[in-house]
Amino acid sequence: MSDTVTTALQDELAHSRGTDYFLMREQLTTDESELLDRVRAFGEAEILPLVSDYWERGEFPFELVPRLAALGIVGDTMQGYGMTPMTAVGAGLIAYELGRIDGSIGTFLAVHVGLAMQSIYLLGSEEQRQRWLPEMAAMTKIGAFALTEPEHGSDSIALEATCRREGDDWVITGRKRWPGNAVWCDLIVVFARDVEDGQVKGFVIQRDDPGYSATKIGGKVSLRMVQNADIVLDDIRVGEDRRLQNCHSFADVAKVLKGTRNTVAWSSTGHAVAAYEIALTYAQRRTQFGRPIAKTQAIQSQLVAMLADVTSMQLYCIRLGRLIDDGALTDTMAALAKYYCSTKARDVCRQARDILGGNGITLDFHVMRHLCDMEALVTYEGTAEIQSLIVGKHITGQSAFA
Ligand SMILES: Cc1cc2nc3c(=O)[nH]c(=O)nc-3n(C[C@H](O)[C@H](O)[C@H](O)COP(=O)(O)OP(=O)(O)OC[C@H]3O[C@@H](n4cnc5c(N)ncnc54)[C@H](O)[C@@H]3O)c2cc1C
Repeated sequence: MSDTVTTALQDELAHSRGTDYFLMREQLTTDESELLDRVRAFGEAEILPLVSDYWERGEFPFELVPRLAALGIVGDTMQGYGMTPMTAVGAGLIAYELGRIDGSIGTFLAVHVGLAMQSIYLLGSEEQRQRWLPEMAAMTKIGAFALTEPEHGSDSIALEATCRREGDDWVITGRKRWPGNAVWCDLIVVFARDVEDGQVKGFVIQRDDPGYSATKIGGKVSLRMVQNADIVLDDIRVGEDRRLQNCHSFADVAKVLKGTRNTVAWSSTGHAVAAYEIALTYAQRRTQFGRPIAKTQAIQSQLVAMLADVTSMQLYCIRLGRLIDDGALTDTMAALAKYYCSTKARDVCRQARDILGGNGITLDFHVMRHLCDMEALVTYEGTAEIQSLIVGKHITGQSAFA
């Protein structure tokens, strides 16, 4: 492929067409459709030009934070506290469009809004919501969420970090692994087990609290712009006002995770759409044996299989969002959607990477970045195996967890 063709192709890929084979757009309200267009325009103009460079350096593009704040996309299914009102479908479309552009920025926002803010919104008292959420909605304070530990990921219900009451204070001790944003965030929601009653409690820790230290996890080839951390909680002392007043057990933590699994389904679908669009464009431009590779049955058959998967994921997501808006989404539905969309999206990204041949492994053509990022999405918020155990238990009545 000549340099001119390669540059033209990259330009075209940067403005991909936005696949919507089953007319998903017709299912959206005017507000949802406008939100999608706003995030898409922002993503293509402001995020896409930056990502390959930041991805390669493994650094976070802090300059995007105020611009994301100005975009008015902090809200999810929460109301008030300075957040932008939106439907669950609208919130999903933000994750979808950010996934289509870049998984690191999508994950950064998902951690800040879906995990940290939702924890305070769902598990905090009214005074605690008033105290933290408005600044987080304005993105002048950024949050993180620490549940996973070095020895407890899928079985985070068995977490070992402890909290103990000493007079008016709580003392929190332990280690956490993986929290995104945790190296540089302002606030981090930490879960620890009360040595008195054995129940899991939640706390809002500040990054400058004595005893908190977070070290960036290096050598990560997925979501490279997200700064994930190994965290040490060394006898951090906080007042009762920092304990989330409505977090009484692990079942309360699970309320937060239910919402974020839905977000991962949408983000995964965005990654798959991007990979499909790039592969389709490339196949039409790339000539081998005197004809475009798109004019071969093998490539057409792969593209159609990818389109079928992408379309089914889109339908899952729209239905998922409407079920949330109707208050009818169950934990097992969210688990099935996360399982299906994340595993299918990884397959679609892998097929796209094949269609691009050698160019498929370069950052210039983006599919390898989407494939690498999908590896994290399949794992976080509960691996595909754990989602299948959740649904398996529901449909058979038998728990196969242990
Ligand atoms: C990029 C990234 C970002 C993350 N961000 C955060 C964050 O912000 N905050 C946070 O708290 N955590 C975060 N996590 C942690 C994430 O939620 C965990 O990695 C995930 O839950 C899996 O845990 P684990 O990595 O310890 O794997 P393990 O639990 O050790 O699992 C290893 C393998 O065993 C399988 N397995 C485990 N148990 C069973 C079983 N009973 N039956 C069958 N198979 C089983 C799993 O499916 C997996 O394949 C993040 C992780 C990543 C990779």
